[in-house]
Amino acid sequence: MSEWFSVKDLHVSVEGKEILKGVSLTINQGEIHTIMGPNGSGKSTLSFVIMGHPKYTVTRGTISFQGKNVLEMKSEERSQLGLFLSFQYPFEISGLKFSKFLFEAYKVRFPEKPNILAFNKELQAKIAELEMKPEFAQRELNVGYSGGEKKRSEILQLLMLQPALAILDETDSGLDVDSLKIVSEAINKMKSPTFSALVITHYNRILKYLQPDHVHIMVDGKIVESGGKELAEKIEAGGYAAQYATVEK
Ligand code: ADP
Ligand code: MG
Repeated sequence: MSEWFSVKDLHVSVEGKEILKGVSLTINQGEIHTIMGPNGSGKSTLSFVIMGHPKYTVTRGTISFQGKNVLEMKSEERSQLGLFLSFQYPFEISGLKFSKFLFEAYKVRFPEKPNILAFNKELQAKIAELEMKPEFAQRELNVGYSGGEKKRSEILQLLMLQPALAILDETDSGLDVDSLKIVSEAINKMKSPTFSALVITHYNRILKYLQPDHVHIMVDGKIVESGGKELAEKIEAGGYAAQYATVEK
């Protein structure tokens, strides 16, 4: 039987240096997973590889989603299948309005409902839900966004595109507690039999708000332990170095 989303024995190198050293992970529909780990353990590398970043070379292993080989898919195909990556467009694009950018993604995701008026109405309703100003839709993509606006922009995309699997790399060290809360609560709210998420984080703080079904700890390019929320509490109490011998103190 093929699994819904699975990473198997994934080995990844950058410029000849092996960073991921055999990562395996399975996500089923409706599950919220978290990957935690110290800086430099390879968490972002995993999300870049899932996104198809050309700089990363897969030397061994597979990634499959809904029975298809993710490593061979174009990014449009990934979006159509409902794979969402938070940092797909992290760069500032002056001249491209947020609403225009999102409508393009929306058309890829929902080819059957390309009605701009209905889209704008739905977008304004979500903007209001997130307690943002209506003008946000007209802002240039990522230009001058504050930390909180970056997060809300991400959540707006999630709410509008309704991905099947959202992969969110919470790298932003400047994330304030309110932003963490907004992201977590939105994910908790979206949780349903047809929505799954993989939240990658350095901080266990996010777990105060997020309710993951599974927690994985990544150290030095490998998942060293998997379990429930109690794993995050263990890290909170002792830090990574106290738990895992290979983590530098
Ligand atoms: P994390 O997200 O867990 O902090 P990363 O995946 O960003 O870890 O990085 C893991 C390791 O891979 C680090 O040692 C980092 O320096 C290295 N690395 C990641 N991306 C690149 C890159 N594009 N070029 C060179 N080294 C990289
Ligand atoms: Mg990272």
